[in-house]
Amino acid sequence: MDSQHSHMRQSHGFSQSAKLFDRSRQSLAGGVSSQFRAMSAPHPMFYSHAKGSRIWDADGNELLDFTLSQGPCILGHSHPELLDRVTSALHKGQLFAGQHLDEVALAEALCRVVPCAELVRLSLSGSEASHALLRLARHLTGKPKYLKFVGHYHGWFDNVSFSVSPPRTLSNDPARPVPWGGGIPASLADDVLVLPWNDIAAVEEALATHADEIAAIITEPVMCNQGCIEPAAGFLEGLRTLCDRHGIILIFDEIITGFRLGLGGAQGFYGVTPDLALFGKAMGAGFPISALTGKREYMEPFTRAEVYHAGTLNGCNASVAASLAVIDIMGRDDAAGYRHIWRLSTRLRDGLAELSAIRPDLRVQGPGPMFHMGFSKRVRATTYDHVLDYDKESYRRFSLGMLSRGVRLIERGLWYVSLAHEDADIDYALAAAKETLQDMTQ
Ligand code: PMP
Repeated sequence: MDSQHSHMRQSHGFSQSAKLFDRSRQSLAGGVSSQFRAMSAPHPMFYSHAKGSRIWDADGNELLDFTLSQGPCILGHSHPELLDRVTSALHKGQLFAGQHLDEVALAEALCRVVPCAELVRLSLSGSEASHALLRLARHLTGKPKYLKFVGHYHGWFDNVSFSVSPPRTLSNDPARPVPWGGGIPASLADDVLVLPWNDIAAVEEALATHADEIAAIITEPVMCNQGCIEPAAGFLEGLRTLCDRHGIILIFDEIITGFRLGLGGAQGFYGVTPDLALFGKAMGAGFPISALTGKREYMEPFTRAEVYHAGTLNGCNASVAASLAVIDIMGRDDAAGYRHIWRLSTRLRDGLAELSAIRPDLRVQGPGPMFHMGFSKRVRATTYDHVLDYDKESYRRFSLGMLSRGVRLIERGLWYVSLAHEDADIDYALAAAKETLQDMTQ
């Protein structure tokens, strides 16, 4: 154990977080502001500050962070240049309800680095962006429905809240999209077709009968939200071909893949260009921003105000400055930052995979800058139903064991690596994982 990490073993327990959680439940519904935070083990945690690859909780535990706040913090926490640039933007004003120079600079930068981007609109969250692009696709095609894939998450708004994490018994019936909780109008299910991901034959078959009512196919280009499953060879290309054949808009939801696989997102990485795409999370390095991007002809209904997209806070100064900083910092020196993230995350992913010598059902998969770890008898997951095979209880024990050793993980198995992580962090995480797994096998 190097001296830089040795103190992280001295866990102070989590009693302050537990107390604060009890208090917060009196005023915040469920003690949280986003449902995903309620899933944290041992209970929703409280944090005081974060810097680089570390975050400190309310009990004073210093944690090596692989959650990166569910993805956004690609630069690590509190990156000095990011803070400088955002602070100086804020000193010029916060929000103008009008255009500003940085906003145009950001739109130009997006058009430069994102293959499908010829026109851009800025928004605040991924949920808004998927909502707006599906609305746009309906208008463009004059068709009412869209196709999504089981297990994909496109935000929490009504029209996409179907078959996000359905039980196995209900997961594969395209005629029966499963609402994600209560309050979602049942009528919206009529406008959604849900198919298993990575099965191009299933898409082809569905389009043979439904193409004239389907406006868009929306997909995470990597199924990050369930198992971090990469597209099967030819799958994204197959979607592209089918959309072209049937006059359907292809939308890539790059909220996770965007600015994480590289500046060009998954579309740059896999070489398949969608018609429209949405970006968020890493694009803002922790500030609220998303981008609606697409080919000029498809974005024009926004230009002509045939389709409305609005938002009081859109393009706010701090978020725009943060995005410009991400593009500059990650793009400089021929994208050295991405080379760093890829190298470290590949080391980490492969190092974890080797620990299957201790626990033979340990599985790791994903491109690198984000990947998934879990325990399953199945060697490789290629679609949602396979993700249901993961032994969630074992992973919960693993992530609690890691937490007690000073490593913070996302409970559902997704790992993120940032620019701020160093080789010593990877060494530490691998040593902690080895010990945790050894403990679990006793
Ligand atoms: N799409 C994907 C692929 C996501 O992972 C998320 C958030 N996890 C969203 C959309 C929604 O983004 P937001 O939380 O910013 O609304």
